[in-house]
Amino acid sequence: MTQTRPQINFVDLKAQQNLVRNKIETRINTVLDHGKYIMGPEVKELEEKLSEYVGSKYCVSCASGTDALLMALMAYNVGPGDVIFTTPFTFIATAEVISLLGATPVFVDIDQETFNIDPVKLRETIFNKINNNGHTKPRGIVAVDLFGQPADYNEINKIAAEFDLFVIEDGAQSFGSEYQGKTACGLADIGTTSFFPAKPLGCYGDGGAVFTNNEETAKLLTSIRVHGKGSHKYDNARIGINGRLDTLQAAILLAKLEIFDDEIRRRNDVANRYSELLSTTLKTPTVRPDRSSAWAQYSILAEDRDEILAKLKANNIPAAVYYPKPLHLQEAFSALGYKTGDFPVSEEMASLIFSLPMHPYLEKEQQEYIVSVINNL
Ligand SMILES: *Cc1c(COP(=O)(O)O)cnc(C)c1O
Repeated sequence: MTQTRPQINFVDLKAQQNLVRNKIETRINTVLDHGKYIMGPEVKELEEKLSEYVGSKYCVSCASGTDALLMALMAYNVGPGDVIFTTPFTFIATAEVISLLGATPVFVDIDQETFNIDPVKLRETIFNKINNNGHTKPRGIVAVDLFGQPADYNEINKIAAEFDLFVIEDGAQSFGSEYQGKTACGLADIGTTSFFPAKPLGCYGDGGAVFTNNEETAKLLTSIRVHGKGSHKYDNARIGINGRLDTLQAAILLAKLEIFDDEIRRRNDVANRYSELLSTTLKTPTVRPDRSSAWAQYSILAEDRDEILAKLKANNIPAAVYYPKPLHLQEAFSALGYKTGDFPVSEEMASLIFSLPMHPYLEKEQQEYIVSVINNL
């Protein structure tokens, strides 16, 4: 079988751009005309549209998904001595911002079906931490909606209330998904997301947003975003960051938001088709009946993962491993003192998991080809 195949992209931003190029250009031209590159009118327009989409009262846009997490923790005044519970099976940013503020990430293993933080283990870990350590103060939980599927917020929020902790939802991968009829990024005290180009809703650079229903928190976030500003820019009420979203990125997001619902539908179609084609050979993703996924990634498990990856590569099909090494085993967190065996589910998943090309414009024939390569046909 040596016929040449059209290139399959892991993420296809070009196909998307072809659909909205005119709208994007019009939006960009408007910004070039008015010249308000920092906090221009598109930023406010986007924030209004996003908060309506999520169903949260306030949206504070910002410079990246990482800044969104950082600002959320800063709004709770997190610092040295504080403990924040999170998952080791995520992108580094989730836990990095905790350490950056001088607080301590405490990892909790994941549920092997959803790859999200396991509420039973979360409760156990918090309970032990509270009873065995007088020097550190449990403050909050950062749950991650991995690959696009929301974590179990019913349970997580209940546990948080029991121990008087805040909950931050890292929705960098889940914008557009739902949990029990509510939209992702609106499932906890604060929700954060990322508009990195390859995320479900991406801009053409870095971008992010923070969501909350709490007016006081929204005010704090707005201040933290611009160097802790008080009543005006040169009145500094607290320590903050330069965390603004560029007007140009807001303009691009406004254009892309118009086709976002359709893209989420298409992502679901693509995921369902993969699962049909693969169900007899591999462990396909589980989406719990009370939620949906934004399908940031379509991730599957295989004992012979590395063989499959080699076959895909030989056939010019892009694939990726998210995540090859859980955070507790990363050099960056070596000071936390974790070791191999501490989070067996995360470690096992890291050794079995891989992700196939996933974007709204992936065609049936391309998926059939990908699956035929996996199945050696
Ligand atoms: C991408 C990502 C982030 C960080 O977002 P950036 O916009 O790249 O800073 C944080 N958490 C998770 C789970 C992510 O996937």
